[in-house]
Parts: sequence; C-alpha cells; structure tokens
Amino acid sequence: MATNKDIKGWRRQTLAVRGGQHRTPFQETSEALFLTAGYAYEGPEEAEARFKGAPGYTYSRYANPTVTMFEERMALLEGAPVARATASGMAAVTASLLCSLRTGDHVLASRAMFGACRYVIEDILSRFGITSTLVDGTDLSAWRKAMRKETKLVFLETPSNPTLEIVDLKRVCEIAHEAGARVIVDNAFASPALQRPMEFGADIVVHSSTKYIDGQGRALGGVVLCKEDFLYDHLQVFLRNTGPSASPFNAWLHLKSLETLDLRMRAHCVNATEIADFLADHNKVVKVLYPFRKDHPQYKLAKKQMNGGGGVVTFEVPGGKKAAFKVAKALKLIDVSNNLGDTKSLLTHPATTTHQRMSPAARAEAGVADGLLRIAVGLEDTADLKEDLAQALAKI
Ligand SMILES: *Cc1c(COP(=O)(O)O)cnc(C)c1O
Repeated sequence: MATNKDIKGWRRQTLAVRGGQHRTPFQETSEALFLTAGYAYEGPEEAEARFKGAPGYTYSRYANPTVTMFEERMALLEGAPVARATASGMAAVTASLLCSLRTGDHVLASRAMFGACRYVIEDILSRFGITSTLVDGTDLSAWRKAMRKETKLVFLETPSNPTLEIVDLKRVCEIAHEAGARVIVDNAFASPALQRPMEFGADIVVHSSTKYIDGQGRALGGVVLCKEDFLYDHLQVFLRNTGPSASPFNAWLHLKSLETLDLRMRAHCVNATEIADFLADHNKVVKVLYPFRKDHPQYKLAKKQMNGGGGVVTFEVPGGKKAAFKVAKALKLIDVSNNLGDTKSLLTHPATTTHQRMSPAARAEAGVADGLLRIAVGLEDTADLKEDLAQALAKI
C-alpha cells in the first residue's frame, strides 16, 4: 500500500478528507476496513525481516492498516509528528502517563479534570510511588510554585469539565519546559477543529475520540499524539506489550468521522452559542458558562487559543439539586446522559454523576454547585431545543 496522493501543501479541511489514505490495488474511494488480527508472509525470511523492523504489518496489537490511516489523519489535523490510536480515551490517558513514569517521579495536574483521569493520577500512580499535585489550572503562579525537580509530566484539560475553565496553554508549557517536564493536554472538549495544543508548545495531546471525533455517540476510541522521541523511547513499546489497541472497526468509524469534523464542530459552536445566550437571558438561570461569551472569566484567553467556543454549555439554576433534577426530569427532547459530543443534545447533573465521587468540599472548590447543569448541545434545530429548555425551566 502507498499513499496515492501527495499531501504536501494541502490545507486542513482537505487533509481531514484525504490525509492518511492508503488505497489497495482495488483503488477504493472510501477507506478500507481491515478486520484482521494477523498478516501472512511470503515465507519465513519475510517474517524474520518484519520482526527485525522491515516495513509491513505483523499483528494488529502492533498495527493495522485501517488504524494506521486514522492515526496519520489525526496527526495531520493536530499538527503532531506521530499518533497512536487506542481502545478508549482512558486507554490513551493511562498509556501516555504510565509509559514514561517511574517510582519517585512527580506529576503536576490541573484540579478541574475528567473524573477518571483524576483517578489514574491520584489513585493508580500513587500505588507505584509516583506522587502528584493538583493545582488551580487558571493560576499561573500555582503551576510555578508546584513544580519540583522530580516533576516529569504536567497534565491538563482545557476547556475543563464541567466548568469550562481555560488553562493558558502557552504559559503553562513554558513553565513546564523550564523545569524539564513534558506537557500532556487532554483535547477532547475542543477537538483538533477548535484547538491544537501543540501550536502552543504541548508535547503530547490525548483524545477521547468517543466524543466529538466520532460525533454520533457510536464507538469508543482514543488517540495519543506526540513527537518521535516520546513514541520510540516510551509509548510504542508500552502500547505493543500492554495491548490497549484500537479496534479496526472503531478506528474506521472515527477515520471517516474526521471528514465531517470541521463542519460538525462549526454547527455545534453556532448552536451552543445560541443556547448559551438563551439561557443567559432566562430569569430562572443564575449563571451561564461558555468560553466564547464575553462574560466568561477567561474570554480573551479562550479567543486566543481556540477557534470556537465548543459544544458544551454549563449553567446554574437556583434551588440546588432539587431544582436541577426538576429541570432534567421535565425535558422532552434533550436526553439525560453523561456523554457528550453527540449529534443529540445531552444534559447531565455533574454533582450527582461525573463528580459524585468528590467530597462536597472538593466539589465546591471545583465550582461544581448542586444547581449546576451541563448541556452538550447537539445538532437539532435550536428552536426545538429552546422550547424544550423553556418548558423545563418553567417547572422551577
Ligand atoms: C470522555 C473523556 C475522557 C475519557 O474517554 P473515554 O473514551 O470515555 O475513555 C477523557 N477526558 C475527557 C475530557 C473526556 O471527556
């Protein structure tokens, strides 16, 4: 197989449609799905050569042609030298952390983080003698103060879940690099259509492709994007031997989804902006958080490092959990679901779901109030979404 077109000079949307495509001799226009675990050789000499590193496939835990196409396209969109796909976003996060760390190392991370990422950093790494510190991601002096000589990795998510805090990618990368640490950015909320952390200095980008990359709530997947030294010194050998490999079928879905990512993200942003403005004007809403609204505390920073505010809007209703539940129960169109990045609008109550495990004090510190609701705005007609929210908010 060979890349049949010269991609040099192609722009991003062209790369999203055609980047990384390898055609078989059948010259199929749509990328092929290779549902195979193994590969046959002309003879033992070829097998021997492959095992010594000659180009070609040996086993789908190592690599698979469909997965390779997804990885190459993702690398082109993120502006990353290399990418490796994984079975889920958490497999990507866990591998990117564990593959290079050892006992005695220290990890610095922002406090506002996806729950499972926090579990890996605080509960799993600590069992192997890897310590961690969590800081307020918006406070640059806190990042600076918490850096230690043992700090090997900095992990952050921006915008964060569910309060949509923005971390200054450029400044935090500078602080980390001065201390000799690598920076991992979880880019799931923005996707490469809205934010490319490597342009601001990030060393490693991780994705849950389950979210906006799939875009239709169908399949789990993850991606780690990095530079060659990290891949060949740490990540590749870890992935090959521990086996969190992407399913070729899921990689194929996500590869094809990348072709419409930019279009979908633009539509998510338009719809989310409309819903955020609608909620901000509503008398039963006390607070709205959306990165591209002028009243967002880090509006300027969001504008600097993102091309759009994203599809998620967070808002608070007065009356705590009781009122929030009333709104959620009254919805007729919008689903109650903790997932996001779907064409269907989904609403969740973070305090009792994604952030349930945290103590009330930790939740308060993270800004997850009992009346807080997060809506992942989908691609329905916003007039229907507003009608649904209006009738639900009228119940409180
Ligand atoms: C969903 C999500 C993950 C985990 O991804 P999975 O595909 O569910 O394993 C990690 N980080 C963020 C920000 C997410 O939204």
